Amino acid sequence: MNTDLLNSVIEHAKEISVLSGTMALLEWDQHTYMPERAGEFRSQQITWLSGLIHQRHTNPVYGESLRELQRGLDEQSACSPEAANIRGLLRDYEKNVQLPESLVKATALATSIGQQVWVEAKAKDDFAMFKPCLEEIVRLRREEASILQTPGRTKYDSLIDQYEEGADSEQIRVVFEALRRDLVPIVRESIAREKARPTKLSLGKAFPIESQRRLSQWVAQKIGFDFERGRLDETEHPFCTTLGPHDHRILTRYFEDSYSSGLYGVLHEAGHGLYEQGTPADMHGLPAGSAASLGVHESQSRLWENMVGRSVGFWKWLLPTAQTYLPALAGLSVEQIVSDLNRVEQSLIRIEADEATYNLHIFVRFEIEKELIDGDLKVSDLPELWRSRYQEYLGIAPDTDTMGVMQDVHWSAGLIGYFPTYTLGNLYAAQLMETATRQLGDLDTMFAQGEFGPLLDWLKTNVHTKGRSMLPHELMLQVNGAPLDAKPFLSYLQRKLLSK
Ligand SMILES: [Zn+2]
Repeated sequence: MNTDLLNSVIEHAKEISVLSGTMALLEWDQHTYMPERAGEFRSQQITWLSGLIHQRHTNPVYGESLRELQRGLDEQSACSPEAANIRGLLRDYEKNVQLPESLVKATALATSIGQQVWVEAKAKDDFAMFKPCLEEIVRLRREEASILQTPGRTKYDSLIDQYEEGADSEQIRVVFEALRRDLVPIVRESIAREKARPTKLSLGKAFPIESQRRLSQWVAQKIGFDFERGRLDETEHPFCTTLGPHDHRILTRYFEDSYSSGLYGVLHEAGHGLYEQGTPADMHGLPAGSAASLGVHESQSRLWENMVGRSVGFWKWLLPTAQTYLPALAGLSVEQIVSDLNRVEQSLIRIEADEATYNLHIFVRFEIEKELIDGDLKVSDLPELWRSRYQEYLGIAPDTDTMGVMQDVHWSAGLIGYFPTYTLGNLYAAQLMETATRQLGDLDTMFAQGEFGPLLDWLKTNVHTKGRSMLPHELMLQVNGAPLDAKPFLSYLQRKLLSK
C-alpha cells in the first residue's frame, strides 16, 4: 500500500472531522444555550461550514487518491482497518461528489431555519407556520434523493441508505410486516391486561427537577458513561452528538410530574454516548472510528433504555437510590415500578411510548415518508394523514399537531429515512441481548448487583470497536450468527409482557 498516499487521505478525512465537529458544536449550542436572536447568524455559520465541508468531501485529488488506494488493495490487506477506511471513505466520496454544493448549502440553511421554526410552531401548535419550511426541506431532500437514486432502487431507498447503508425500503417493509403480524396481537392482549391495573404511579406526585437531574447523571455514570469525555444537558428533544474523539454530549428534558421521562431520555442517549465513547478514538473521523449505522446506534440506545433500564434487575439495584433522590417513590416496590414502566397503552407520543407500541409509531412514519419521497403526498396533507394513520395503527388520534405530526424534530432537521432505523435498532438490540446472554450468563442478576461492566465490555468488543469497518447487516450477522430477524424481539416482548 502506498503509505504516503494513505497518510494524505487520512489527514484530509481528519480535517473534515475537525470541521464536522465544529459544526456539531454550533448545532449543540443552538439546541441548548443559544440566545433566541442569535438564530439567523447561526444559520449563516452552519450554511457556510456545510459548504466548506462539502468542498473537502468532494475534492477531486482526494477522490482520485482514494480510487488509487482502492485499486492497490490486495487480498492480504483487504481485511485491515486501513482497507476498511479506504472503502468507507470512497463510498462516502462517490455519494458526496454527485451532490452540488448549492444543494448541500440550501439544505443546511433550510434545516437550520426549519428546526428553529419547528420549536416555535410546535409550542404554538401552528402547523401553518411550519408548513413552508417543511415544504422546502422535502423539496430539497427529494432532489437529493433523485440524484443519489441508483437503478432498481427508489428515491426513498437512497435516503435510507444514508442512515442504514445497504438497506432499502422493500427489505424493511418485509421485516416490518412480519413484525407487525405478531406484534399487533401482543399489543392487543397487553392493553386488555392493563385495564385491570392501577393508575399510573406518578399521577398527582411531584418529582423535583433538580433531583431528577442529579439522579439521571448518577445513573448514566454507573452504567459507564464517562463524564470526563462527555456532558449531560437539557433540550426540547433529547439527542446525543459527538463533537470530538473525547467529547460526547447527551441531552434530555425533565418534567416535574414524571419520574421516568427525563431518566429514560438519559438512558437512551447515554446508550448512544457509550457507543460513541467505545469507538476507537485514534480513528476518530474515519470509518474504523465511526458508528456502523443509525440502526446499530439505535440498538445501543434502545438496549440500555429498555432491555436494561426497564428490567427487574435494574430496578432492584436502582430503587433504594432513586427513593433517596425522589422521596415521592417511597413505599413503592420494584414490581410496581417495573410494571408501571412497562405499561402498554395506546399513546400519541413516540418517544414516550412503551416498547411494544413504539414500533407502530415507526410504521406510521415509515409509510408516510415513503409516500412523501416516492409518491406525491403533499406536506399540506400531512396533519390529516397523520391522524388517520394513528387511528388505524394505534386506535387513537391527536387533537393537535403538536401531539401529532409536529412532535418529532426529525423532518425539520431534514432527517427523512431515519425513522425506520429505530425499529431496526429494537430488533438488533433483542438479537444482541440474546447473544450476550448466551455468552455472559444471566444479565438480570448482574444488573441487580449494579454490574453493568460485563455487558458494556461485551458490546465494546463486539460492536463499538468494530466501527464502520463493515456494513451494518454484516456486522450484526457476525456478532449474532444470524441475519436481521423479528423473532427474538417478539419473544422478548412475550416473556416480558405476557408470561405472568
Ligand atoms: Zn436514539
